[in-house]
Amino acid sequence: MAPLSKLALVALGTVKGVAAWGVLGHATVAYVAQNYVSSDTASWAQGVLGDSSSSYLANIASWADDYRETTAGEWSAPLHFIDAEDNPPSSCNVDYDRDCGNSGCSISAIANYTQRVGDGRLSTDNVAEALRFLVHFIGDVTQPLHDEAYKVGGNEIEVTFNGYSDNLHADWDTYMPEQLIGGDSLSDAQSWAKTLTTEINSGNYKSQAASWIEGDSTSDTVSTATRWASDANAFVCSVVMPNGAAALETGDLYPTYYNSAIGTIELQIAKGGYRLGNWLNMVYTSEIAKRDLEGSDQKVRDTASYPDLLGREFLPEPRPLSRAKLARAAMEGSCCGSGKHDH
Ligand SMILES: [Zn+2]
Ligand SMILES: [Zn+2]
Repeated sequence: MAPLSKLALVALGTVKGVAAWGVLGHATVAYVAQNYVSSDTASWAQGVLGDSSSSYLANIASWADDYRETTAGEWSAPLHFIDAEDNPPSSCNVDYDRDCGNSGCSISAIANYTQRVGDGRLSTDNVAEALRFLVHFIGDVTQPLHDEAYKVGGNEIEVTFNGYSDNLHADWDTYMPEQLIGGDSLSDAQSWAKTLTTEINSGNYKSQAASWIEGDSTSDTVSTATRWASDANAFVCSVVMPNGAAALETGDLYPTYYNSAIGTIELQIAKGGYRLGNWLNMVYTSEIAKRDLEGSDQKVRDTASYPDLLGREFLPEPRPLSRAKLARAAMEGSCCGSGKHDH
């Protein structure tokens, strides 16, 4: 199966080198978040990452995409998405127990790395790794097609965008954001983040921003991340493919479809950044709380379970692979050639 899929990838031809929300999207989420972290949280994160620059989160925002492409990091590929087995465009929903695969998903990963980043027993490297994963996955979960199993998250919906033949997932990750901003450098991301931050503070998003983080809690991480995934997944029915996938496979998605989608892309990037900033503030606060606990009650700390790297403790009960999970496994199996572009 893998060799056939590799051939298919090569045959696609004009494929941009793309990653999950592309580099631009992830860096923009990071810069927005930097505008909402407290100065104490910022100093803590800079210390964890060993980066005191003004791009400390943006610099590592796409690390997880590079890592998954290495042999050592292949295990982390399923953590970039949750394959919601719903039925767009007529029905969209996320069910954690139904949808999170046996090898983990974005929701279990957010829960696990939230726990690990505040776990004082872990090595400095493991804490830094946890923060790099968190910054990335809180971005991924806002991309609607990272919360959808249909056609392997749109990776198998072949479309044309502004003359480029690729798939719908890649258009959402990369082509459409870059069409809007005109590049994918850190300075492009910084200026996009500035625009989105203004919209949050005093513009179009001002009245709704509080609802983006309502109920978020680092003590109920699976529920929180499931809410984020459900929120993004709803756009699969309403915006990503409101008339089904076949309607997107003829003609060029630019400009009509682009114009119908770009507002949602901006909204989701803004949300991801706002949530990430707030989440890191809560993680920092609870980590400090834990440090106090260490001094006063050594016993509680010693009897707490030690988290594993994959976060198995957060996973639903193992079950047989569904057709959607088999399709994803086939795609992941083909993932590691130079032409890899699936997410
Ligand atoms: Zn992606
Ligand atoms: Zn990703």
